[in-house]
Amino acid sequence: MVETQAGAAAAGSHDTSFFGHPRGLAILFLTEMWERFSYYGMRGLLIIYLTQHFLFSDQHSALIYGAYIALVYVMAIFGGSLADKYLGQRKAVTFGAILLVMGHFGMAFEGGGSKEVMVVDGLEYQLTLEGRGGDATPIVKSAIGQSEISFSEGASHMIIADPAAVGLPAQIATDSYETQTTREPLFVGVLYLSLALIIAGVGFLKANISTIVGDLYGLHDARRDSGFTIFYMGINLGSFLASWSCGILGIVYGWKYGFGLAGIGMLAGLLIFLRYQGWLEGRAEPPDPAKLKEKVFGPINVEWACYSSALLMMAVAMSLIMNPAPAAKLMAATGVLMVLFLIWYSFAKVDGKYRSRVWAATYFALAQIPFWSLFEQAGSSLTLFTDRLVDRNIAGWSVPTPVFQSLNAGFIFIFAPFIAWLWIWMAKRKIEPSTPVKFSIGIFGVGLGFLALVAGMKSTGASALTPVYFIFMVYWIHTMSELMLSPVGLSAMTKLAPPHAAGLMMGTWFLYSGLSNSLSGVIAGATGAETIGGKIIDVTAAKAGYASVYTNVGTVAIGVSVFMLLISPIIKKWMKEAG
Ligand code: GLN
Repeated sequence: MVETQAGAAAAGSHDTSFFGHPRGLAILFLTEMWERFSYYGMRGLLIIYLTQHFLFSDQHSALIYGAYIALVYVMAIFGGSLADKYLGQRKAVTFGAILLVMGHFGMAFEGGGSKEVMVVDGLEYQLTLEGRGGDATPIVKSAIGQSEISFSEGASHMIIADPAAVGLPAQIATDSYETQTTREPLFVGVLYLSLALIIAGVGFLKANISTIVGDLYGLHDARRDSGFTIFYMGINLGSFLASWSCGILGIVYGWKYGFGLAGIGMLAGLLIFLRYQGWLEGRAEPPDPAKLKEKVFGPINVEWACYSSALLMMAVAMSLIMNPAPAAKLMAATGVLMVLFLIWYSFAKVDGKYRSRVWAATYFALAQIPFWSLFEQAGSSLTLFTDRLVDRNIAGWSVPTPVFQSLNAGFIFIFAPFIAWLWIWMAKRKIEPSTPVKFSIGIFGVGLGFLALVAGMKSTGASALTPVYFIFMVYWIHTMSELMLSPVGLSAMTKLAPPHAAGLMMGTWFLYSGLSNSLSGVIAGATGAETIGGKIIDVTAAKAGYASVYTNVGTVAIGVSVFMLLISPIIKKWMKEAG
């Protein structure tokens, strides 16, 4: 069995029934499409849900969000290694999908929401929002009625629209009252548990499903890169559909409908994978099936011990999400340790001819950090910025903020085939940039996108809304940059991996995706504005805050990209003929 498995993997598939690719790609495409549908559907709502439903501060929400989107990928290193050694990718993906279904449905239990109360002259008034998302109206409720509220320029005063209805004065100085927030512990617990289930689920699924894509192709099969491009389009088709459907359902009808639909999408993915897994032609089976049946303790065998490790992953994930500030530091330390491990691994465990390839793979994994830490502002600070400080009105429709997440996916769909064609066109003329040069262009672009957005913000008054086409522009520039780096990186990992270490290399790739996401939470936290009931109270200060953080990170990224361009010949040498 071990022989057959290794033999099948090395030979790759000659099947061409799915757009010239093995039909196994079709099932990986569809499963990953639904997995990403659930991931991005939920992600588009998450930061707004944390600030408006649970009433966590901007800073705390950004940290929770950052820890969450970090851990989903960090756990891939465990899911990838367990699959390499014991489970094989097919079982790991199935198990991950089951955890994901549970986690996404768990998110649909929202409870009654947190309550924020202000005390004026010994009496309690509830501060809350009517509606969800950027168009929600802040209101104050007293025992006798309710009124809309707003804040004066500079936020020195709260202005009560209908003072008589609530029995308050027309204006209250903001420094004359305290607010207090109470949360429902049960539903906060359900939130953390659901996030932990999703983290473990993605950990078992994401790297492994990407590794199977690589396994479909023989080492020198020219279809590999375009196979990854098709797979990447599946990812983004899921993301596109979710941003519209889950995003609109969640904001317009209620959080639980958006999260619930994400769960239904994941269930569809699981069922498709179960039904058509035979199409993988045995490429993702356990390396040694007999080993899985060996008893570890009591009735528990190796296979069940692997599944039980999800409980440990969840426990770690939950405690880190509940303490997101130290989590970011811990993850930075993990990143440093992993580099040291990979250097040791390249000398101790890898045959000499593959050694420098492991260094190149490590470099690419690390080079994601300046990219995703900026790019991932999309789901956090850029979402809040769009929600609050952008004129989202298009042809009379105030577009719900999560819908803007679909721009990235939509642009991938339009431009991925063009970029794939461009590489071939350039290759024929022998002017195709090398992988390290493509990476440096990607980092340059992510910085440029933010500088362009800041220019757009400055083109209007200090407290004016930013025109929506600058949001289109930043997403377009960021998407083109993503295409320089992300599918190229996935394909490079499978090409550069030494034999029998594809899961480890893919896990490393996602580990650093995850660590970049953690850094993105820290950056997003720096943009945090002061809020009441999830709404900013000083527009001018908030806008200046976003502009300054975006300028700084944009400039640093451009500096890093120049450095990467300068060292690209060295990396190309490390890649050897895989370049
Ligand atoms: N957008 C891609 C996906 O969801 C890339 C994720 C990543 O590596 N950070 O698969």
